[in-house]
Parts: sequence; C-alpha cells; structure tokens
Amino acid sequence: YDLLKSFDPELMETIELEKQRQSSNIELIASENFISEAVMLAMGSCLANKYAEGYPGKRYYGGCEFVDMTENIARERVKALFGAEHANVQPHSGSQANMGVYMSVLKPGDKVLGMNLAHGGHLTHGSPVNFSGILYNFISYGVSEDGYIDYEELRNTVLKERPRMIVAGASAYPRMIDFKRIREICDEVDAFMMVDMAHIAGLVAAGYHPSPVPYADFVSTTTHKTLRGPRGGTILCKAQYAKCVEKTIFPGIQGGPLMHVIAGKAVCFKEAASDKFKEYQKRVLVNAHTLAQALTERGFNLVSGGTDNHLMLVDLRNKGVTGKDAENLLEQVGITVNKNTVPFDTESPFVTSGIRIGTPAITTKGLSEDDMVEIADIINWVIENKHNDLKPAGERVARLTQKFTT
Ligand code: PLP
Repeated sequence: YDLLKSFDPELMETIELEKQRQSSNIELIASENFISEAVMLAMGSCLANKYAEGYPGKRYYGGCEFVDMTENIARERVKALFGAEHANVQPHSGSQANMGVYMSVLKPGDKVLGMNLAHGGHLTHGSPVNFSGILYNFISYGVSEDGYIDYEELRNTVLKERPRMIVAGASAYPRMIDFKRIREICDEVDAFMMVDMAHIAGLVAAGYHPSPVPYADFVSTTTHKTLRGPRGGTILCKAQYAKCVEKTIFPGIQGGPLMHVIAGKAVCFKEAASDKFKEYQKRVLVNAHTLAQALTERGFNLVSGGTDNHLMLVDLRNKGVTGKDAENLLEQVGITVNKNTVPFDTESPFVTSGIRIGTPAITTKGLSEDDMVEIADIINWVIENKHNDLKPAGERVARLTQKFTT
C-alpha cells in the first residue's frame, strides 16, 4: 500500500476512504461479504498478467503450464465442494454465468420460466431491460400472498406454456427452495432445469440449504456472496453438458479468463470446505433468525413472516416510510441496506415499499446475536425518529463497529 500511496495518492485516497467506510458501517446488504486476506492476495498476484484463452491443456497462448494448474485446482475443488460432475470457473460474473448457461442450450426466442424480479428474482431471470428478457421469451412465476413460492401456480404455468427451461433461484427470497419439486415439474414437460444459487451458495456448501446439484442440469453461482470469495461466477453442470458450456463461455461470450480471480476462487473453495466455514454459515443463519425475530417484535412485517436463510425482506408499509427513504435514513447513521420491492408492491422500483437485509457480511465481522437485537432496535428507532436528530443512532452504530473482529 505504501508504494501505491506514494505513486498515486489520488487513487489511494479512494481506497482508504472505502476501507474506512467498510470498517465504520454496519453492512446489511445481503449480497455482500468481506473476503479473507488469502483470497485478496491471490487476486493481487502475478496471475493477473497472464493471457490464457481456452482451457487447461488446450490454450491459445504459450506459457500456460502453471495457470493450467491454478484452474485445475479451482475446478476440482468446486466439483468436490458441491458434488458436481463438471465445473467451469471462468465466468467473470454471475450474469455471465447465467448467459453461459442460457446460450449453451437455448436459441433466441425460446420460452423460459423465471422468477419475477418484483417477487425476488434476478435481472438475468428475464427482466425486459436485461439480455435475458431481450433474447428469450421469459415468462415469470412468483410468490403467493403468504410470500412463499406458489409451486402449484408454477406447475400450472409450466403445463400451459411448456417452456424449454425453468430457472430457479432468487436475489430476494427468504425461504428454502424446493429443488426436487421443480425437477419433477421440469420432467413433466421435458424442460431443462437451471438453478441460480448465487445467494445461497455458501449455505449449500455448508449443508444448511438443500443442494440443487443432484436435481438441476445446470447450476450457476456467483462466488462473492455467502460463498465469500472474489467477485465472479461459476457454472456447475451434468457431464453431458460440459462441452457445450465450455464452448459457450469461451469462445462464445468471453475472451481470456481472469486467472488471478480464478486463483481467488480456488482459495475460496478451499475455505468453504472447512469446518470453520460451516461454523460461519451457522452463525449467519442464527444471526438472520435473531434479527428477523427482533424486527418482528418491533412491529416490522417480514415478507413470508421470517426467514430460513441469510436474508429477510422487510415490508415497510405499516411504518409510514418507503424503501428509498429507509435506505437513506439508515445510511445517515452508518447502516447500509438496499431498498427492495416487496411482492405486490405498489411503489415503483426506484422507491419501493421494502428493504432487503442480510447477515453474511456482519457475521464475517464477528457480530453475534445480542448485536442483532441492537441493530433491529437502531433500525426501529431511526424510522420512528425520522424527523429528529439521528446522532444518537450513529453513536450506537459506532459502538457496534468497535466490536468488529476483522
Ligand atoms: N444471480 C443472482 C441470484 C444474483 O442475486 C446476482 C447478483 O446480485 C447475480 C446473479 C448476478 O451477479 P453479478 O452481479 O456478478 O453479475
């Protein structure tokens, strides 16, 4: 850092400010986490210098013998971690992993079923402003009034529309997903099953969420959310689809792989196979459960009434504040959340009636159950005192951040 500071103080200042923000805020964004120093070191290594178009043993560049070893380690580790037949660790992001799956077996215009963005799905599951909704004929499914996926409605839509693929997985769904049931529905119409497990991958790795791998033809994931690795994506698939996935990622949609990020993924997969990681995921769940309960006790309505995983969706309509305003108010006291639509929302996606809250990042920082109760209380206090001086809440946040262990 000293070198960077003397060469480029202007840039270094932005890094230092962000570092300071990360250590003085309560990070409740459900898709974020804090990587280990080992992951960071791998990403900052000399592997960043290497071009390696192709795959281990079949590259379009010389000098790849060592990065071949790196990529093979990452592939073998992630296959073992999730019990997958084949893995491609090259997708630069979760979105590119999803594009890689779609383009492997779908043709433009094909019918696909994905979860409604407004009910918790992701942009790449068919939003009209995203490549997925532009290239493919996406139809959506959602949750029922109780906030749970309506599998019966999903099945009826599938029988009527007969899609080529069903995409399961979500960005803002607080309950477990029944992958077996979705497989059965896919089989009724001979559709491909894809699961985007980006949000829950860490829970799946630790055995705290049923794995989609035995059921799905394709599983995509990001590596930077609950899995706590570098920003990036990965695809797991059945052996029979290995070749078409390889061809789609390269040369189909990407050029050279980011070998330094793949090295970071390899470290992440090793960490995720450890007992320490399992213990971490258990604390993520306990913290989420405690936070959900403490918010409920303070009069907050949680979509589906609670959570089974690392996140919760808070419907703020009874609290007289929009998602956008709550996000801004909490930001002022050092709590970072994101506004989020709730199912059947009447506000626009820029305003929203809810916020999404997750515990992966604050659990990595070492916070535990008592701290969750304090956080719920601060959130409640801030919303109730939205027209008052919020300084006392900022002081409470500062006291919590002093407990950070990393
Ligand atoms: N899939 C899901 C379920 C996600 O929640 C996200 C990101 O939030 C993605 C895919 C996209 O990942 P990325 O931002 O790496 O493109």
